[in-house]
Amino acid sequence: MNLTSIGEVRRLLAAYGLKPKKSLGQNFLVAAGVLDKIMAAADIRASDLVIEIGPGLGVLTRRLAEAGARVLAVELDAGLVTVLRDVLGDLEDRVRLVRADALQLDYSALLAEMVGPAPAGTGGEPTVKVVANLPYYITSPFVTGFLEAGHPFERLVLMVQREVAARMVARPGTKVYGALTLLIKYHTEAEIVWPVSRHCFYPPPAVDSAVVRLRKRVRPAVAVKRPDLLFVIVRAAFGRRRKMLPNALEGAIPGVDREAWGRILRGAGIDPGARGEALGLEQFGRIADAVVQMGFAPASRDTVL
Ligand code: SAM
Repeated sequence: MNLTSIGEVRRLLAAYGLKPKKSLGQNFLVAAGVLDKIMAAADIRASDLVIEIGPGLGVLTRRLAEAGARVLAVELDAGLVTVLRDVLGDLEDRVRLVRADALQLDYSALLAEMVGPAPAGTGGEPTVKVVANLPYYITSPFVTGFLEAGHPFERLVLMVQREVAARMVARPGTKVYGALTLLIKYHTEAEIVWPVSRHCFYPPPAVDSAVVRLRKRVRPAVAVKRPDLLFVIVRAAFGRRRKMLPNALEGAIPGVDREAWGRILRGAGIDPGARGEALGLEQFGRIADAVVQMGFAPASRDTVL
């Protein structure tokens, strides 16, 4: 079965009485060349354990499993899960299909179950990768939740909306630079691998896409005393991105008023007249450390708003 053929995809959906659901971002990849790019970016090895979000009809799942990876495929749509059980039946020793909302899943528990001893002859522990043609409405919450949870992983190779890809790799001072950019930069080295036209999908979505690769850093891009505070500050700064920092940050940490933020910023060597969108990760790191050094940090992350 050639799942990169629009005719085949249509026939398969019709055979199961299904139609693509816009609400679940069901745009099926029908471009073999793009699949090749995703596979090359993922650099799949037999020792890999791949989490795939939204396997759909299994076009990518099959490639991943045939390349030797074990795949944890997380699909929300019950109708598609029925299709997947049939079309991936011959790969059941490699593919674990879970019907769940990818935003609600306990990855730690599943990974602990699956990160057992590596298959004979592959040597070492499996390498965890996330490879997915994501439903676009969950991109930001999924990436944020996955990175913040601290799961072990080596890379994420994701098909995302082109504008979101631009946000992921944005530079300070640009319109699309924001909290997502900084979270990704903190944990990973991000790059846009390949632009993808909307016409590579059936049905075509309203926007173009891009494949991004986020490779986990050996250590975070900045060393800060309290990473939790760093991102409380980053989110507050971009939550009111047009405001100067003391105004934007007011209320971000209980008991730290505008005037105190002015002192903290000066302590960190940052102009209190600046806006968050002009600052790099290293400067945000200095602010977070100044909060701690000047005695303004709450005792634990639970006390941070
Ligand atoms: N991987 C397939 C492909 O490349 O053709 C399908 C990709 S399609 C863009 C997104 C897939 O994610 C759909 O199969 C959709 O049902 C599934 N999906 C949507 N929301 C989801 C969620 N919250 N959790 C898991 N899967 C979801």
